[in-house]
Amino acid sequence: MKNTIVTKFGGSSLASSEQFRKVKSIVTSNKDRRFVVPSAPGKRDSKDYKITDLLYLCNAHVKTSIPFDDVFKLIEERYCSIVRDLSIDIDINIPLEKIKEDIKNGASADYAASRGEYLNGLILAKYLEYEFIDAAEIIVFNEGGTYDQEKTKIKVEERLSKVKNAVIPGFYGANEEGEIVAFSRGGSDVTGSIIAASINASLYENWTDVSGFLMADPRIVDNPKAIEKITYKELRELSYMGASVLHEEAIFPVREAGIYINIKNTNRPEDPGTLIVDDIQDVKNHGKITGVAGRKDFTVIAIEKALMNSELGFTRRILSILESYGISYENMPSGIDTVSLVIADSQLKNKKDKVVEEIKRQCSPDSIDVYPNMAVIATVGRGMAKATGVAAVLFSALAKANINVRMIDQGSSEMNILVGVATSDFEKAVNAIYAAFEK
Ligand code: ADP
Ligand code: ASP
Ligand code: MG
Repeated sequence: MKNTIVTKFGGSSLASSEQFRKVKSIVTSNKDRRFVVPSAPGKRDSKDYKITDLLYLCNAHVKTSIPFDDVFKLIEERYCSIVRDLSIDIDINIPLEKIKEDIKNGASADYAASRGEYLNGLILAKYLEYEFIDAAEIIVFNEGGTYDQEKTKIKVEERLSKVKNAVIPGFYGANEEGEIVAFSRGGSDVTGSIIAASINASLYENWTDVSGFLMADPRIVDNPKAIEKITYKELRELSYMGASVLHEEAIFPVREAGIYINIKNTNRPEDPGTLIVDDIQDVKNHGKITGVAGRKDFTVIAIEKALMNSELGFTRRILSILESYGISYENMPSGIDTVSLVIADSQLKNKKDKVVEEIKRQCSPDSIDVYPNMAVIATVGRGMAKATGVAAVLFSALAKANINVRMIDQGSSEMNILVGVATSDFEKAVNAIYAAFEK
């Protein structure tokens, strides 16, 4: 659809009546903003609650037979105050009561959580005078709980071609039995991307509380610079590695359809934000990085054996041990006589000792060391490929900050250098890398 922008607003953008006002003024300032995807109300300040968290909590209370009236009251109050402050002509108590009843009667966690977006969608649609389209009608999930791209595309195209403007709540859809299925946390980003791709929108706007994708997490680095333009590939690496601005799966639908994403700040709409594109052919970025991101809670298992490389099937045996324990690994950097397995703690759980024993038994390594409490940091940039000296700047910055690097891995795209450091050095390392490249 030409001249059609799909506009997604995150939880903080819709956390209060004041935020709703900003959203209305953004939507109405460009008539191309025809389809709006809201999240559930997020935090109004750092001590506040996210409605989605409260809904999950209600569901958990019911499962353990604990009364949830007090928690539900917080939810009711939030929606009622938005409706009241903005004098929106809607009786929000009717759906609120039904939802409370459904949760009490044992509705699923996905159903409970999805109601945050559903209610916000009802309110926002009324406020914008847009049609409300329930995501359960058009976002289709398979029996196995995965989202069905083809069926969704047909439904979205058909339904949206009939309306001028609509609000479609994010984060959920339904299977063919009509049961609500939610995406993983932060999934409204995915809904926006699916809608944009299904109707071939001219742009997917993602409005949040920061002025775009920043070069580093603003909770770690003070006032990091915003990235003006970034490729899907770089963004994928950064969001996978912890830059949580955009759900990591939100890139795929729009990338396939060749639709750009613009990340914008609801609180500073005049800022240009970040444009996420397919390819950038400038050479300006030569030797520069695009961003840095990282994640904690990894364990590194370092294995050493002389002449490992010439021993047939050595790494295969290691990988089949991991497979037999149902563990997937994050990275596997290797040298001539060494190989390290970088594994997320959530994967390893309590299987560490068994895995180490099994590697010893089947592979007879010269040594095997386990480093728990590791963080992995990705330094990403298209300008790093073929540029000399980038790694030198990176490692000397870490050395100067007295940080011990326990693992190094460079992706074959040459767009990403991964380093493993102790979790206690994580924040210091991210700051050191950022400062070295952003002088
Ligand atoms: P929304 O509720 O709008 O979906 P999120 O909380 O999911 O917003 O994502 C925005 C947040 O992501 C920011 O407030 C910021 O704290 C965090 N963040 C982490 N890494 C980055 C980064 N590299 N650039 C911008 N924001 C980041
Ligand atoms: N409200 C959901 C969550 O908190 C989805 C989203 O915000 O995108 O995860
Ligand atoms: Mg989000």
